[in-house]
Amino acid sequence: MPRLAAKRRSEIPSFASRFGQQLLGWFDRNKRDLPWRRNRDPYRVWLSEIMLQQTRVAAVVEHYNRFLVRFPTVQALAAAPLSSVVAAWSGLGYYRRAQRLHAAARQVVHRRRGRLPRTLAELEALPGIGRYSAAAIASIAFGEAVAAVDGNVERVVQRVLGRAVCGNRLWRVAADLLSPSRPGDFNQAMMELGATLCLPREPKCRLCPVEGMCRTRGELKPSPPARRQARKEVDYALDCRQGSIFLVRRAREMTLMPGMWELPEIPRDRSIEPSFTLRHSITSTDYLVRVARLALPGEAKGCWIKASRAGKLPLTGLARKILCRAKLI
Ligand code: SF4
Repeated sequence: MPRLAAKRRSEIPSFASRFGQQLLGWFDRNKRDLPWRRNRDPYRVWLSEIMLQQTRVAAVVEHYNRFLVRFPTVQALAAAPLSSVVAAWSGLGYYRRAQRLHAAARQVVHRRRGRLPRTLAELEALPGIGRYSAAAIASIAFGEAVAAVDGNVERVVQRVLGRAVCGNRLWRVAADLLSPSRPGDFNQAMMELGATLCLPREPKCRLCPVEGMCRTRGELKPSPPARRQARKEVDYALDCRQGSIFLVRRAREMTLMPGMWELPEIPRDRSIEPSFTLRHSITSTDYLVRVARLALPGEAKGCWIKASRAGKLPLTGLARKILCRAKLI
């Protein structure tokens, strides 16, 4: 036990209290006015944390407000059919998040009388809530003194310490730095610092509230070269007749975007001139998408959907992009 304590002490920065004070003072003066910061309602905090996973703040703001108008409470979310929830999520990508959010809302309503659990451990047991999200929700909405470590926080911690730490050790250091009196604000301040000043490239150290305590004051090491995206080409048919569009539904057992609607993909045929092209980028692939307006053969599998209804369906992000470009929704 004494040996363990000695090992742990070596991880604890001696300046934790001063670090917290300076960081929080800066955060109080400079934090961005984001809709999920206007109160600490657990449902709103939870929703924002799920939406922010792998998604830019600017994209989330727009969807967050719309989603809350449609599903203002966890009860409203749980009572809605999954298809409406996925439709409202359309454009944010990573649709499994919407499915898990919906499943978690049903658990919260049916097993917990609509009350979100208050602790990291209980939150982590809900679908779609991992260690980071659970820590963020527990600290921001309920004041539990737990550190939340995302990519931004990891970068800040590593630069402040002047060395790469990862895994559980990284979480321990973040916990040692945490302000026990304002854990939710501290976690948000660390994320804010990473998102606005301690940027991956060319951090703005001269504006940084903890510059005097940072051992790196710059980039810790050259970032690894960005992973090159694979380039692919894909062709879709846009068959629109008498106000209806021919769409196909992805199988429910598919891993990606199950049950969502899209345009029928067609094999490349150089004799068909595309009506328009667009680019569509997902995590590892940059697609050149060719869309041809044509009449599909009668045996094509799919459904005719009224254009006025199509926009309300859970469309894939690409299908929505194509139909917007074609001015059909
Ligand atoms: S001084 Fe620079 S590198 Fe260090 S935490 Fe601040 S912004 Fe990041």
